[in-house]
Amino acid sequence: MNCIKCGREIPEGELFCAVCAMPSVIKPPETLAEPKKEKAKKVRKKKAPDGKAVRGLRTALIVCICLLLAVCALVGLAANEYLERREALRIREASVTLREKEADNRDNQIAELKAELQEAEKTIRALQAQRAD
Ligand SMILES: [Zn+2]
Repeated sequence: MNCIKCGREIPEGELFCAVCAMPSVIKPPETLAEPKKEKAKKVRKKKAPDGKAVRGLRTALIVCICLLLAVCALVGLAANEYLERREALRIREASVTLREKEADNRDNQIAELKAELQEAEKTIRALQAQRAD
């Protein structure tokens, strides 16, 4: 007789397989038929709760997706607000630097005008000196 599990030969009189310890008394047809029926029953029994579980998972997934979308929308709004504030700040900084540059330019223009005035005064003095001579 051969072992039904590993197929090795089991000497007559031995109760167990020497290799895998499978009982030699059990007859193959019975052992093979019973687990199949049990498995089928188990699968049938499992199918009903599986459907409920799948539905629960689906609703959970939908809720998660909705939450994610809501969070994404909120984050997007916050990001937009942040960007708007940043842009406003940049515009303010740019206007401030522009004013500073304008002020610098005015100072430079004033300095140039002063220098021109000084040169004009010098030339006037020189002309007056020439007339006096
Ligand atoms: Zn065996």
